[in-house]
Amino acid sequence: MHDVCIVGGGVSGLAASIFTARAGLDTLVVDGGESILARNASLENYPGFPDGIDARRYLRLSREQAENAGVEFELARVTSTEPVNERILEDGFVLETEGGEPLEARRVIAASWSDSDYLVPLDVGRIQRGSKHFVSVDDAGRTAVDGVYAAGRLADEPHQAIVAAGHGAKVGLAVIHDSDANFYHDWVAPEGYFTGRGREVPPCCEEIDDVERQARDDRARGRLLDAFEEPLDEVPTMHPSVAEE
Ligand SMILES: Cc1cc2nc3c(=O)[nH]c(=O)nc-3n(C[C@H](O)[C@H](O)[C@H](O)COP(=O)(O)OP(=O)(O)OC[C@H]3O[C@@H](n4cnc5c(N)ncnc54)[C@H](O)[C@@H]3O)c2cc1C
Repeated sequence: MHDVCIVGGGVSGLAASIFTARAGLDTLVVDGGESILARNASLENYPGFPDGIDARRYLRLSREQAENAGVEFELARVTSTEPVNERILEDGFVLETEGGEPLEARRVIAASWSDSDYLVPLDVGRIQRGSKHFVSVDDAGRTAVDGVYAAGRLADEPHQAIVAAGHGAKVGLAVIHDSDANFYHDWVAPEGYFTGRGREVPPCCEEIDDVERQARDDRARGRLLDAFEEPLDEVPTMHPSVAEE
């Protein structure tokens, strides 16, 4: 049984998974296809990229970051989610997928803009607006059902990538806090930052010395240089109604 199953490997789901996996939770992302961000032609309002970034490259790098953190991925569409039994917080949920084996997880984050039909059996509180359904959540992304959370656009956050990523991270933190993970902050600090004041390094924080800092910087620059060396051969996905014409 996974500690957390994140339905949707787009912007918010990937951000949530990076946080939960780095906190030591066994994290599975089930993704049914393509983030809506793959329709973007040039992502220019995501902080950190002065002249923007190819949205598909951003998604690819985020997924690699999740894989580095230990996240497992499964390509499948989730079709239903139900509690294993009435002891939800102990025994969790079983998620059925299209054509795949059922999956089990203690907690579920729905990050699956724009599909939440698989939550219908749980009665989490969906809101319909036009043809779209949103999932109502509290400030931390918790739904009306213990152990079930929603993140990103599905949770009615503004339709922007940085907001979806930030919300995914915030919901990931709620899952960490609701689990029994020993957690303070996910921080990497220079050697002596805590210990130099006679403090233990808090859980999920790390102190690194200058040699290690430079080694990590070398690795990070190498990875990004490789990633940006060539233009991608993928093109934006067109809106389905245009593509059909
Ligand atoms: C044309 C276009 C241009 C855009 N340009 C910008 C921009 O320039 N800047 C900006 O900030 N934002 C932009 N956006 C908005 C941005 O893409 C979204 O706000 C953001 O992707 C929302 O993130 P999310 O994680 O909520 O959803 P998504 O990134 O769409 O991720 C949802 C994931 O869930 C998966 N999924 C759905 N149902 C299931 C299921 N049943 N089982 C398993 N997986 C499932 C989907 O396949 C998808 O991978 C643009 C959007 C569009 C359409």
